[in-house]
Amino acid sequence: MQTGQIIRALSGFYDVQSEHKIYRTRARGNFRKRKITPLVGDFVEFESESQTESGYILEILERKNEMIRPPVANIDQAVVIVSAVEPDFSLNLLDRFLIYLESLNIQGLVYLTKTDMISDEKYQAIKQSLDYYEKVGYPIFAPRTAFTPEIIQAIEDTFPDKTTVFTGQTGAGKSTLLNHIDPKLNLATAEISQSLNRGKHTTRHIELIPLNDGLVGDTPGFSSLGILNVTSETLVSRYPEFREIGQDCKFRTCQHVMEPKCAVKAAVDAGEIMQSRYTNYLQFRAELKDIRPVYKKSK
Ligand code: ZN
Repeated sequence: MQTGQIIRALSGFYDVQSEHKIYRTRARGNFRKRKITPLVGDFVEFESESQTESGYILEILERKNEMIRPPVANIDQAVVIVSAVEPDFSLNLLDRFLIYLESLNIQGLVYLTKTDMISDEKYQAIKQSLDYYEKVGYPIFAPRTAFTPEIIQAIEDTFPDKTTVFTGQTGAGKSTLLNHIDPKLNLATAEISQSLNRGKHTTRHIELIPLNDGLVGDTPGFSSLGILNVTSETLVSRYPEFREIGQDCKFRTCQHVMEPKCAVKAAVDAGEIMQSRYTNYLQFRAELKDIRPVYKKSK
């Protein structure tokens, strides 16, 4: 028996990478009975006589996390691509995405594109905002000149021993960035969209590509984002700086809204917490509270 990680799922076969080799496997029949579908990213126990014949997945190890679209498990980090312009730079959208990543316990990294299309003044303003994000725990890649070898190298240096996905705003230049890292990343996506056109499949696929001792995958872009995987009560825990500073609030369950002696509100007033982080928090909280359960009329 060997252990490995599924990097590709195609027509009932699962390609498993183990010690830098790829094995083609199938899932054992009893998975279906147990209603378990292996996912790309799953760590598995499998047996395989050779790399030329297909082996069998025996067991799927417990998942650290699971993204739904596309279905992929055990993601360690996500590079979020945001655009300086066209589409406009949006801290609101960035916060939404980081909240989602926090809920899945995925480390967020932020890559700023199209910086060559903005003035120095605007660049400095965006950079100043992003410096705040770096300070609270999200590594930032905001090169003044696009796609230099140094910045590509800096991204690749984060890959070893991790599963990384790229995600971002539609039109922010994700494919261009991926092309600079490894054109194979884009090819995997292109093949998928073709088969989507032919067969009207709505399922999103993902393939993980071995790169720099890690696995890397592309995910579809998004243009807007609801607030995913969170309730108005749990939202507060998706902010690393609120978690830390909130320990000094008078009430342990403080939501940092109307409560007295709130350390988070004090930190916002003192400029230690970025105003937009807090304003967006209040906005998301209101959005989440507006979501009411839908009751279907009985016939
Ligand atoms: Zn508070």
